[in-house]
Amino acid sequence: MKLVDIIKKENVFIHTKTKNQANRLMKELDKQELEWADGRKYNHHNNHWKLYKANTCYCPHDGYIRNFGSLDADGFTIVEFKDVDFEIEGSIKLNNEKIDILGTTYTLLEDTSINNPKLIKNRAYFEPYSKKIVYELPNIQEVENVEKIDEFNQKIIRHEIIHTFFYESGLKDYGNDEVLVDWIASQFPKIVKVFQKLKIE
Ligand SMILES: [Zn+2]
Repeated sequence: MKLVDIIKKENVFIHTKTKNQANRLMKELDKQELEWADGRKYNHHNNHWKLYKANTCYCPHDGYIRNFGSLDADGFTIVEFKDVDFEIEGSIKLNNEKIDILGTTYTLLEDTSINNPKLIKNRAYFEPYSKKIVYELPNIQEVENVEKIDEFNQKIIRHEIIHTFFYESGLKDYGNDEVLVDWIASQFPKIVKVFQKLKIE
């Protein structure tokens, strides 16, 4: 069930069995600009998970928290956290995006490791012959466990783009140096910030 649908409905509760799940949910609800019934913001400081722990259920529509056991009565729907589709967004909506790498057009493509075995070992890869950068979005499990998932994803895409720049420059050896490529992918935003501050970007 999609979170965007859950938040529209009264009496639909999301059951978070772990504190991690609750915190992840707080983040998502805050992103949707929802609040607790009393107007406080959702965040990990006031997730109130301690109250019912593994029995904690949140109703995003009304900003309430209830004990799993108290929701037995008719009229309530309980959705397990793992079944909530958060529709991970952010900068990652890059499917079919075309980019110009030193005069060569590359296409960014989203795929899954179920479909595409090349994504089992790697989160993303680039194909010089087909001029593609293929990436996989994180699953809910990873979203739950990796902090700053958006930043994590952005870096993965940057990493592949750096590969293509080396490749299209004819600098294959540098492009094969994963440490170098990853260093550039990590530091690039910081370098850009310095350039921008000095207006020399
Ligand atoms: Zn690489």
